Amino acid sequence: MTIVSNSVKHSAVDSRVDSFMEALVGQFPGEREFHQAVQEVVKSVMPVVLDNAAYLKAKVLERLVVPDRVISFRVVWVDDAGDVQVNRGYRIQMSSLIGPYKGGLRFHPSVTAGLLKFLAFEQVFKNSLTTLPMGGGKGGADFDPKGRSDAEVMRFCQAFMSELFHHIGPDIDVPAGDIGVGGREVGYLFGQYRKLTKRFNGVLTGKGVNFGGSQLRPEATGYGAVYFASEMLATRGESVEGKTATVSGSGNVAIYTVEKLNALGAKVLTLSDSGGTIVDMDGIDPEKIEWVKDLKTVRYGRISEYAQRYPNAEYLPGERPWRVPCDLAFPSATQNEIEACDAETLVNNGCYCVSEGANMPSTPEAVDVFQAARILYGPGKAANAGGVAVSGLEMTQNAGCMRRSRDEVDTQLQRIMKSIHENCVRYGRENDYVDYVRGANIAGFTKVADAMVQQGYI
Ligand code: NDP
Repeated sequence: MTIVSNSVKHSAVDSRVDSFMEALVGQFPGEREFHQAVQEVVKSVMPVVLDNAAYLKAKVLERLVVPDRVISFRVVWVDDAGDVQVNRGYRIQMSSLIGPYKGGLRFHPSVTAGLLKFLAFEQVFKNSLTTLPMGGGKGGADFDPKGRSDAEVMRFCQAFMSELFHHIGPDIDVPAGDIGVGGREVGYLFGQYRKLTKRFNGVLTGKGVNFGGSQLRPEATGYGAVYFASEMLATRGESVEGKTATVSGSGNVAIYTVEKLNALGAKVLTLSDSGGTIVDMDGIDPEKIEWVKDLKTVRYGRISEYAQRYPNAEYLPGERPWRVPCDLAFPSATQNEIEACDAETLVNNGCYCVSEGANMPSTPEAVDVFQAARILYGPGKAANAGGVAVSGLEMTQNAGCMRRSRDEVDTQLQRIMKSIHENCVRYGRENDYVDYVRGANIAGFTKVADAMVQQGYI
């Protein structure tokens, strides 16, 4: 399939990207991560846009970078000491062209409207890639759950939902978890929504399985990132089995990435958090990852404790995992956690497959290093789409008052990750190399852009 006609010269594309970005930065100053995310997509899709008169006439790119709406609100709650706390809450409803807004909630002190806009923008294309009918959104608050008691987290969630509930609904906007929002928080948020509205419905995903949650939703992002790596490796006749892997983070995505890597016969050497990295050259085996699960989801502890529990492991305070030699890398913590120098170290030490569990964990310069080295590089919008895909299954399950078994969900997840990979290859193949960034962006974009053209100027 020819995507770019010969009439579209590269220099013309570059200058259109530059002028588009200049206008965007002028329009939304200071939103660095949003600019970064938009630039990556626009670089990939500009040739397609310039070659399509309907896209140009409808100004699809200009419209896609402006959210449908940005909701911003005050969250007031009382801490255990009786002091009043004030946080800022947000929901960015980016695009509902192909379905209700869908995307997680992040509770982290770094949250701003600009940061959430980058995540909401990514979400639009990621959700489109899953082939399920979901639009894109993202929300959260600058609240830090770390060090807060269970009662404080509950009161914060209740205060946050007391405003958010006005703006969401099973066919309007369906939030889920993200950094700082796991099963516990989704439970408290759902409880408050139910109390305020008197409705029991699929307004949130990632719920407990006993109140409408999907089997395998907590596992889905991590498992999906490993399935995506397996698909990439298969293009070279290889598999995950017998490989060494580094994983960053020690939250939801990281834990289930390790679990699936172990199940498929890889050896995982690292985990991390914002304090530092643990390196376990014996491998973070199934028994150890169960211990980490308990540490992180029951006791809310720090990854440094791993080195006390398993003395053969080393704790490297303030470090990221990327100087540990490995075959495969799974960045699963946060945005821009792999810089160009980290990417060079990874490649020089023999890493040849990167599957991103986190959203935009590699800087643009790091992505350039991976692509110049021609390694298998799966960007987050494709590699971590398993989470939202299973959320999509949870939505259909809730709408149809039905349940799927764990095996059924796992089969669907594998099927979806395979189809995302096929789409990336279809749009991203360049001779004997697959540019998964270009593939994911074009595949995700065309469906949304076509819907925009077909729905008129609104
Ligand atoms: P969690 O809150 O469960 O875990 C986040 C992990 O990343 C923690 O170990 C945390 O350490 C670490 N981390 C967070 N911020 C930083 C930072 N600035 N520097 C270093 N480490 C950091 O979140 P998730 O596992 O759910 O999310 C991880 C990534 O995956 C995010 O990019 C998220 O957007 C993405 N993602 C998540 C999905 C999901 O289903 N949950 C779906 C798709 C993508 P600490 O405890 O010290 O903060």
